[in-house]
Amino acid sequence: MVTCYIGVGSNLGDRQDNINTAIKKIMMLKATRVRKISRIIETHPQLGPPQGLYLNAVLEIETEFNPYHLLQELQRIESSLGRIRMVKDGPRTIDLDILTYGDLSINEEALCLPHPRILEREFVLGPLREIAPEVVKRLQNKLKKVTKSMRKPPRKRQRHKVR
Ligand code: ADP
Ligand code: MG
Repeated sequence: MVTCYIGVGSNLGDRQDNINTAIKKIMMLKATRVRKISRIIETHPQLGPPQGLYLNAVLEIETEFNPYHLLQELQRIESSLGRIRMVKDGPRTIDLDILTYGDLSINEEALCLPHPRILEREFVLGPLREIAPEVVKRLQNKLKKVTKSMRKPPRKRQRHKVR
């Protein structure tokens, strides 16, 4: 079993009902247990066209699915709740993102882990900090290390003595 955090968002239709239904469907997935559910918060859209307020939450789950299979199951739940991708960052009945999958790092367009924008999104960070403050610290430390290594000055080129 691997511990994962899932970001949940909705700003279309009955938002509360969409989130409750999505959580119930995740609870019903095979080989998966929902361990913690954060509070649901109301947030302003940060990207995309003008659109309504979001409800957001974060779940802690344990799963035996590999990350690709988990994403597939979450996308199936999104579709079953009427999610249609029309405009990038546009309104959605439900959005289910894998924030982290254990300590795994993947850098592919179809699946990027940890989710690359966690630390910039207060609507994810707040609920995640509520149920897993140590995960937020771990991610922040990881980011610090990366930025520090990017700031290191390039090694000086060695001068060759001319004899
Ligand atoms: P967003 O969540 O960024 O607003 P979408 O839900 O439409 O946008 O997802 C766009 C694509 O992001 C999906 O097709 C999915 O393959 C990809 N993706 C990459 N990494 C992740 C992740 N960690 N969780 C969910 N989707 C991801
Ligand atoms: Mg998404």
